Amino acid sequence: MNTTAIVLAAGQGKRMKSTIHKQYLLIEDKPVLYYSLKAFEDSFIDNIVLVTGKDEQDYCHKEIIQKYNLKKVTSIIEGGKERYHSVAYGLRAIKWACDYVFIHDGARPFIDNEILMRALNEVKLSGACVTGMPVKDTVKIADDDQYVSSTPSRSLVWQIQTPQVFEKELITDTYEKLLANEEKLIADGISITDDAMVVEHFSDRKVKLTEGSYRNIKITTPEDLKIAQIFLNT
Ligand code: C5P
Repeated sequence: MNTTAIVLAAGQGKRMKSTIHKQYLLIEDKPVLYYSLKAFEDSFIDNIVLVTGKDEQDYCHKEIIQKYNLKKVTSIIEGGKERYHSVAYGLRAIKWACDYVFIHDGARPFIDNEILMRALNEVKLSGACVTGMPVKDTVKIADDDQYVSSTPSRSLVWQIQTPQVFEKELITDTYEKLLANEEKLIADGISITDDAMVVEHFSDRKVKLTEGSYRNIKITTPEDLKIAQIFLNT
């Protein structure tokens, strides 16, 4: 069995309001991206495809992969305009026989082996599973004028994280369909913000939810870095 991780680091991180992209900001002297890669390096995962921004491949190779002796990074490729482009290019870079693909945001440094094991066990049963946690707050659906339109039952609402894990063939086929139908989706006002949505739209397969952790945050805004610092030391 082969398991491959696609680690995404091609985002601009505009919400961080920093000139350095969020995946390269430091937590205790090491870039955020290092922690995500290291978790995969120390796990059962066989190969890692790293997706970076234009002209960032050399930096990642020297300053992260070589420096910390990460041996599972098989290729470093350039991402695309939207997250889903970066994933699609990552999938095309898997040139070896692969059973399951773990797609992960490089900006989530706190994945651990337990999350990865739970996802592996689940994807073997369901073929498609995404990590997340039940929401702690009540969630409201708003209308276009910012009035409350409805309140979903809290016990059924999950906040979605990564890794999102799929059978290789399923995720490759659905992503190729997405690229072929991209213009129609844009015209319909649908924005694809995670991988499960691609499977939901372009196959009839069900996607299972599996537990991540409340620590598995995405470093997005400046306060997240402070929280990350605390998590690292506890
Ligand atoms: O922008 P967002 O927070 O959804 O990004 C999630 C992850 O996807 C980040 O790790 C980011 O680097 C990555 N990404 C990417 N290519 C893009 C946009 C985001 O690899 N075009």
